[in-house]
Amino acid sequence: MPQTLIRNAESVARSRQVAQLVAGKETSDGAGVKLTRVLSQSLQRRLDPFLMLDAFGSDKPDDYIAGFPDHPHRGFETVTYMIAGRMRHRDSAGHEGLLENGGVQWMTAGRGVVHSEIPEQEAGVMEGFQLWLNLPAQDKLCDPWYRDFAADDLPGFSTESGVAVTVIAGTSHDVTGAVVRQATAPLYLDIHLPAGSRFAQVLPVGHNAFVHVYRGDVTIAGQKVPAQRMAILENAAEADGVIIEASTPARVLLLAGQPLNEPIAQYGPFVMNNEQEIYQALNDYRSGRFVE
Ligand code: MN
Repeated sequence: MPQTLIRNAESVARSRQVAQLVAGKETSDGAGVKLTRVLSQSLQRRLDPFLMLDAFGSDKPDDYIAGFPDHPHRGFETVTYMIAGRMRHRDSAGHEGLLENGGVQWMTAGRGVVHSEIPEQEAGVMEGFQLWLNLPAQDKLCDPWYRDFAADDLPGFSTESGVAVTVIAGTSHDVTGAVVRQATAPLYLDIHLPAGSRFAQVLPVGHNAFVHVYRGDVTIAGQKVPAQRMAILENAAEADGVIIEASTPARVLLLAGQPLNEPIAQYGPFVMNNEQEIYQALNDYRSGRFVE
């Protein structure tokens, strides 16, 4: 949970409206991990610089215990946020970490890593999210980078109305998050709203933004957003942010970022700018150049 700091409410004069409600798709990935793909490939252009958001959660170990054995990535960043259970990570750049309740793992694949992500049971329950954040063309082949943040290391604050916010990336209400990125300027907040509360967040007009509701339901500019729905927020010049209201307790993720406006070429775990770079990634992976 975030440390308690009382901040003045960030002031938003006019909230963005909900442009579209999206229900995630049930799928499986890795060695048969059941998950819900909240942000899928068809929304990559609309939600640039975000490429994917998966929500996984189960109290049945068979749904997830085989995890994600060794697999490669190139050209983007993965951000894993666990809210229950643990995930053990090992990669070819020599990083190893055990992600626990409320912790975040931020991995920049850059020119390439091979890694494994294996869940470990905690009272049988595992729940969390994995976000894929694109890298600008000029950084796609950068050195891999990795950091683990335990729950206690994540900056956070509480508002006077009792809203508790964890700032995973970006800046909210003068609190700077665990990770800051220049090119994509990602904002990633986990927001816990008590009944009858509201939370306002200033957003630059040009930044693409969405809210994923994972507990309860909320209202944004008069539109109800039920649990397990993603609300894509409009980019309207007259709106200076978003106001999220909860009549019953709710938990949401709020994400926003500066679009890269570059071509996106994805083939599985590789996200580059064109087909030739995808072939190069496949060749480099097959010839062992990711683990040198
Ligand atoms: Mn992975």
